[in-house]
Amino acid sequence: MFNFKKKYGQNFLTDKNLLNAIVRDAGINKDDFVVEIGAGAGALTEVLSQNAREVLAFEIDEELRETLLSLQLKNVNFRFEDFMKVDLSELNEPFKVVANLPYYITTPIIFKLLEETDKLLSLTIMVQKEVAERMVAKPSGDYGLLSVMLAFYGEAKITRIVKRNMFHPEPNVDSAVVTLEIQKKFDVDKKMFYNFVKTAFSMRRKTLLNNLSTIYEKEKLKRVFGEEFLKRRAETLTIEEFVEAYKKINQHKMI
Ligand code: SAH
Repeated sequence: MFNFKKKYGQNFLTDKNLLNAIVRDAGINKDDFVVEIGAGAGALTEVLSQNAREVLAFEIDEELRETLLSLQLKNVNFRFEDFMKVDLSELNEPFKVVANLPYYITTPIIFKLLEETDKLLSLTIMVQKEVAERMVAKPSGDYGLLSVMLAFYGEAKITRIVKRNMFHPEPNVDSAVVTLEIQKKFDVDKKMFYNFVKTAFSMRRKTLLNNLSTIYEKEKLKRVFGEEFLKRRAETLTIEEFVEAYKKINQHKMI
Protein backbone atom coordinates (compact mmCIF):
# COMPACT_ATOMS: atom_id res chain seq x y z
CA MET A 1 0.00 0.00 0.00
CA PHE A 2 1.28 3.43 -0.90
CA ASN A 3 2.04 5.84 1.97
CA PHE A 4 1.16 9.42 1.12
CA LYS A 5 4.04 11.79 1.68
CA LYS A 6 3.09 15.05 3.25
CA LYS A 7 6.48 16.60 2.51
CA TYR A 8 5.75 16.24 -1.22
CA GLY A 9 2.29 17.76 -0.96
CA GLN A 10 0.60 14.55 -2.04
CA ASN A 11 -3.14 15.16 -2.20
CA PHE A 12 -4.54 13.06 -4.99
CA LEU A 13 -7.70 13.47 -7.04
CA THR A 14 -9.94 10.64 -8.17
CA ASP A 15 -13.26 12.15 -9.25
CA LYS A 16 -13.53 11.65 -13.01
CA ASN A 17 -15.97 14.51 -13.52
CA LEU A 18 -13.63 16.91 -11.79
CA LEU A 19 -10.58 15.67 -13.71
CA ASN A 20 -12.45 16.05 -17.00
CA ALA A 21 -13.57 19.52 -15.97
CA ILE A 22 -9.98 20.62 -15.25
CA VAL A 23 -8.85 19.41 -18.66
CA ARG A 24 -11.81 21.22 -20.22
CA ASP A 25 -10.90 24.42 -18.34
CA ALA A 26 -7.45 24.12 -19.90
CA GLY A 27 -8.97 23.85 -23.39
CA ILE A 28 -6.76 20.86 -24.22
CA ASN A 29 -7.09 19.30 -27.66
CA LYS A 30 -5.29 16.79 -29.87
CA ASP A 31 -2.77 19.36 -31.10
CA ASP A 32 -1.48 20.10 -27.63
CA PHE A 33 1.74 19.21 -25.93
CA VAL A 34 1.00 19.26 -22.21
CA VAL A 35 3.39 19.40 -19.27
CA GLU A 36 2.10 18.10 -15.94
CA ILE A 37 3.94 18.77 -12.69
CA GLY A 38 3.35 16.16 -9.98
CA ALA A 39 1.68 13.18 -11.68
CA GLY A 40 0.92 11.42 -8.40
CA ALA A 41 -0.90 8.17 -9.16
CA GLY A 42 -1.69 9.46 -12.65
CA ALA A 43 -5.39 10.29 -12.40
CA LEU A 44 -5.03 13.64 -14.16
CA THR A 45 -2.29 12.28 -16.43
CA GLU A 46 -4.69 9.69 -17.77
CA VAL A 47 -7.35 12.24 -18.70
CA LEU A 48 -4.67 14.45 -20.24
CA SER A 49 -3.37 11.57 -22.29
CA GLN A 50 -6.87 10.98 -23.69
CA ASN A 51 -7.26 14.60 -24.75
CA ALA A 52 -3.80 15.85 -25.71
CA ARG A 53 -1.36 14.88 -28.44
CA GLU A 54 1.49 14.33 -26.03
CA VAL A 55 2.11 14.65 -22.30
CA LEU A 56 5.33 15.11 -20.37
CA ALA A 57 4.69 14.42 -16.69
CA PHE A 58 7.11 15.12 -13.86
CA GLU A 59 7.00 13.30 -10.55
CA ILE A 60 9.55 13.61 -7.77
CA ASP A 61 8.53 10.45 -5.89
CA GLU A 62 10.28 7.34 -7.25
CA GLU A 63 7.82 5.17 -5.36
CA LEU A 64 5.15 6.15 -7.86
CA ARG A 65 7.17 4.93 -10.83
CA GLU A 66 5.60 1.46 -10.99
CA THR A 67 2.05 2.73 -10.58
CA LEU A 68 2.53 5.34 -13.29
CA LEU A 69 4.29 3.06 -15.77
CA SER A 70 1.68 0.34 -15.28
CA LEU A 71 -0.94 2.70 -16.69
CA GLN A 72 0.77 2.20 -20.08
CA LEU A 73 -0.18 5.55 -21.44
CA LYS A 74 1.22 5.60 -24.98
CA ASN A 75 1.55 9.34 -25.51
CA VAL A 76 2.94 10.11 -22.05
CA ASN A 77 6.58 10.46 -21.01
CA PHE A 78 7.25 10.31 -17.29
CA ARG A 79 10.27 11.93 -15.74
CA PHE A 80 11.03 11.13 -12.13
CA GLU A 81 12.71 14.37 -11.21
CA ASP A 82 12.33 17.41 -9.05
CA PHE A 83 10.62 19.88 -11.36
CA MET A 84 12.41 22.77 -9.67
CA LYS A 85 15.71 21.38 -10.95
CA VAL A 86 14.60 20.92 -14.56
CA ASP A 87 16.19 23.19 -17.13
CA LEU A 88 13.14 24.54 -18.95
CA SER A 89 15.18 25.65 -21.96
CA GLU A 90 15.16 21.91 -22.83
CA LEU A 91 11.50 22.28 -23.77
CA ASN A 92 11.70 23.73 -27.23
CA GLU A 93 8.15 23.06 -28.32
CA PRO A 94 5.25 25.29 -27.19
CA PHE A 95 3.45 23.67 -24.26
CA LYS A 96 0.50 24.05 -21.93
CA VAL A 97 0.79 23.30 -18.24
CA VAL A 98 -2.01 21.43 -16.51
CA ALA A 99 -1.37 20.36 -12.93
CA ASN A 100 -2.70 19.77 -9.47
CA LEU A 101 0.35 21.40 -7.95
CA PRO A 102 2.24 20.33 -4.84
CA TYR A 103 1.20 23.19 -2.55
CA TYR A 104 4.48 23.61 -0.66
CA ILE A 105 6.10 25.01 -3.82
CA THR A 106 3.20 26.53 -5.77
CA THR A 107 4.67 30.03 -6.07
CA PRO A 108 8.23 28.95 -6.97
CA ILE A 109 6.79 26.70 -9.70
CA ILE A 110 4.68 29.53 -11.14
CA PHE A 111 7.63 31.95 -11.19
CA LYS A 112 9.89 29.31 -12.72
CA LEU A 113 7.40 28.72 -15.53
CA LEU A 114 6.95 32.42 -16.19
CA GLU A 115 10.65 33.28 -16.06
CA GLU A 116 12.58 30.39 -17.51
CA THR A 117 10.81 29.72 -20.78
CA ASP A 118 9.03 31.59 -23.51
CA LYS A 119 7.35 28.42 -24.83
CA LEU A 120 4.58 28.39 -22.21
CA LEU A 121 1.17 28.91 -23.87
CA SER A 122 -1.11 28.60 -20.86
CA LEU A 123 -1.32 27.54 -17.24
CA THR A 124 -4.21 25.62 -15.68
CA ILE A 125 -3.34 24.79 -12.11
CA MET A 126 -5.00 23.62 -8.94
CA VAL A 127 -3.75 25.69 -6.02
CA GLN A 128 -4.90 26.55 -2.51
CA LYS A 129 -7.93 28.81 -2.68
CA GLU A 130 -6.10 31.55 -0.81
CA VAL A 131 -3.24 31.49 -3.35
CA ALA A 132 -5.79 31.52 -6.19
CA GLU A 133 -7.28 34.69 -4.72
CA ARG A 134 -3.87 36.34 -4.67
CA MET A 135 -3.21 35.24 -8.22
CA VAL A 136 -6.31 36.92 -9.64
CA ALA A 137 -6.35 39.94 -7.28
CA LYS A 138 -6.71 43.48 -8.58
CA PRO A 139 -5.11 46.40 -6.67
CA SER A 140 -6.20 45.80 -3.04
CA GLY A 141 -5.09 43.90 0.04
CA ASP A 142 -4.59 40.52 -1.69
CA TYR A 143 -2.61 42.13 -4.48
CA GLY A 144 1.16 41.59 -4.58
CA LEU A 145 4.15 40.52 -6.64
CA LEU A 146 2.40 37.31 -7.73
CA SER A 147 -0.75 39.14 -8.92
CA VAL A 148 1.27 41.76 -10.81
CA MET A 149 3.49 39.23 -12.52
CA LEU A 150 0.51 37.18 -13.64
CA ALA A 151 -1.26 40.32 -14.88
CA PHE A 152 1.88 41.07 -16.87
CA TYR A 153 1.26 37.90 -18.89
CA GLY A 154 -2.52 37.93 -19.15
CA GLU A 155 -5.70 37.70 -17.17
CA ALA A 156 -5.67 34.95 -14.55
CA LYS A 157 -9.12 33.53 -13.82
CA ILE A 158 -10.53 31.19 -11.20
CA THR A 159 -12.50 28.61 -13.16
CA ARG A 160 -13.69 26.53 -10.20
CA ILE A 161 -13.51 26.15 -6.45
CA VAL A 162 -12.71 22.62 -5.30
CA LYS A 163 -13.67 21.53 -1.80
CA ARG A 164 -11.05 19.82 0.34
CA ASN A 165 -13.03 16.57 0.50
CA MET A 166 -12.27 15.96 -3.20
CA PHE A 167 -8.64 15.10 -2.31
CA HIS A 168 -7.03 12.02 -0.76
CA PRO A 169 -5.78 12.53 1.85
CA GLU A 170 -7.94 15.55 2.61
CA PRO A 171 -5.91 18.77 3.05
CA ASN A 172 -6.75 21.50 5.59
CA VAL A 173 -7.83 24.02 2.96
CA ASP A 174 -10.11 24.30 -0.05
CA SER A 175 -8.58 24.69 -3.49
CA ALA A 176 -9.28 26.42 -6.77
CA VAL A 177 -8.37 25.98 -10.41
CA VAL A 178 -6.74 29.01 -11.99
CA THR A 179 -6.17 29.51 -15.71
CA LEU A 180 -3.90 31.97 -17.43
CA GLU A 181 -3.38 32.32 -21.14
CA ILE A 182 0.05 33.75 -21.82
CA GLN A 183 -0.01 36.87 -23.96
CA LYS A 184 2.82 39.17 -24.85
CA LYS A 185 0.98 42.29 -23.71
CA PHE A 186 3.91 44.53 -22.86
CA ASP A 187 7.13 45.09 -24.72
CA VAL A 188 9.55 45.20 -21.80
CA ASP A 189 12.25 42.88 -20.49
CA LYS A 190 10.45 40.50 -18.11
CA LYS A 191 13.40 39.89 -15.76
CA MET A 192 14.11 43.61 -15.34
CA PHE A 193 10.42 44.33 -14.89
CA TYR A 194 10.16 41.60 -12.24
CA ASN A 195 13.06 43.13 -10.30
CA PHE A 196 11.43 46.53 -10.46
CA VAL A 197 8.08 45.25 -9.17
CA LYS A 198 9.82 43.26 -6.45
CA THR A 199 11.60 46.39 -5.24
CA ALA A 200 8.35 48.36 -5.27
CA PHE A 201 6.72 45.72 -3.03
CA SER A 202 9.73 45.06 -0.79
CA MET A 203 8.13 46.70 2.24
CA ARG A 204 4.39 46.41 1.77
CA ARG A 205 3.31 49.23 4.06
CA LYS A 206 5.85 51.70 2.76
CA THR A 207 5.46 54.21 -0.05
CA LEU A 208 6.94 53.82 -3.50
CA LEU A 209 9.46 56.51 -2.60
CA ASN A 210 10.66 54.50 0.40
CA ASN A 211 10.93 51.24 -1.49
CA LEU A 212 12.31 52.54 -4.77
CA SER A 213 14.89 54.76 -3.09
CA THR A 214 16.62 51.60 -1.82
CA ILE A 215 18.04 51.29 -5.34
CA TYR A 216 17.35 54.57 -7.15
CA GLU A 217 18.44 58.05 -6.15
CA LYS A 218 15.70 59.90 -4.25
CA GLU A 219 16.10 63.22 -6.06
CA LYS A 220 16.06 61.56 -9.44
CA LEU A 221 12.92 59.60 -8.55
CA LYS A 222 11.19 62.85 -7.58
CA ARG A 223 12.15 64.52 -10.83
CA VAL A 224 10.97 61.59 -12.96
CA PHE A 225 7.74 60.70 -11.13
CA GLY A 226 6.72 63.72 -9.09
CA GLU A 227 6.05 63.58 -5.35
CA GLU A 228 2.35 62.69 -5.52
CA PHE A 229 2.93 59.45 -7.38
CA LEU A 230 5.74 58.44 -5.04
CA LYS A 231 3.45 58.75 -2.02
CA ARG A 232 1.44 55.81 -3.27
CA ARG A 233 1.99 52.20 -2.27
CA ALA A 234 2.81 49.45 -4.77
CA GLU A 235 -0.44 47.67 -3.91
CA THR A 236 -2.45 50.53 -5.48
CA LEU A 237 -0.79 50.37 -8.92
CA THR A 238 -2.49 48.65 -11.84
CA ILE A 239 -0.39 46.56 -14.21
CA GLU A 240 -0.50 49.41 -16.75
CA GLU A 241 0.83 51.85 -14.15
CA PHE A 242 3.61 49.45 -13.21
CA VAL A 243 4.69 49.07 -16.83
CA GLU A 244 4.55 52.82 -17.38
CA ALA A 245 6.65 53.45 -14.27
CA TYR A 246 9.18 50.83 -15.32
CA LYS A 247 9.44 52.41 -18.77
CA LYS A 248 10.12 55.80 -17.22
CA ILE A 249 12.92 54.33 -15.12
CA ASN A 250 14.36 52.87 -18.28
CA GLN A 251 14.01 56.01 -20.38
CA HIS A 252 15.79 58.05 -17.77
CA LYS A 253 18.55 55.46 -17.69
CA MET A 254 18.09 54.86 -14.01
CA ILE A 255 18.85 51.15 -14.39
N1 SAH B 1 -1.70 14.95 -10.18
C1 SAH B 1 -2.00 14.07 -9.07
C2 SAH B 1 -1.17 14.35 -7.81
C3 SAH B 1 -1.18 15.76 -7.28
S1 SAH B 1 -0.40 15.89 -5.70
C4 SAH B 1 -3.49 14.17 -8.76
O1 SAH B 1 -4.11 15.17 -9.08
O2 SAH B 1 -4.03 13.23 -8.17
C5 SAH B 1 1.13 16.65 -6.13
C6 SAH B 1 2.18 15.69 -6.69
O3 SAH B 1 3.38 16.43 -6.92
C7 SAH B 1 2.60 14.56 -5.74
O4 SAH B 1 2.52 13.33 -6.39
C8 SAH B 1 4.06 14.88 -5.37
O5 SAH B 1 4.84 13.73 -5.12
C9 SAH B 1 4.51 15.64 -6.59
N2 SAH B 1 5.65 16.56 -6.35
C10 SAH B 1 5.94 17.23 -5.21
N3 SAH B 1 7.02 17.99 -5.36
C11 SAH B 1 7.44 17.81 -6.64
C12 SAH B 1 8.54 18.35 -7.41
N4 SAH B 1 9.40 19.19 -6.85
N5 SAH B 1 8.68 17.94 -8.69
C13 SAH B 1 7.80 17.07 -9.24
N6 SAH B 1 6.74 16.54 -8.57
C14 SAH B 1 6.56 16.91 -7.29
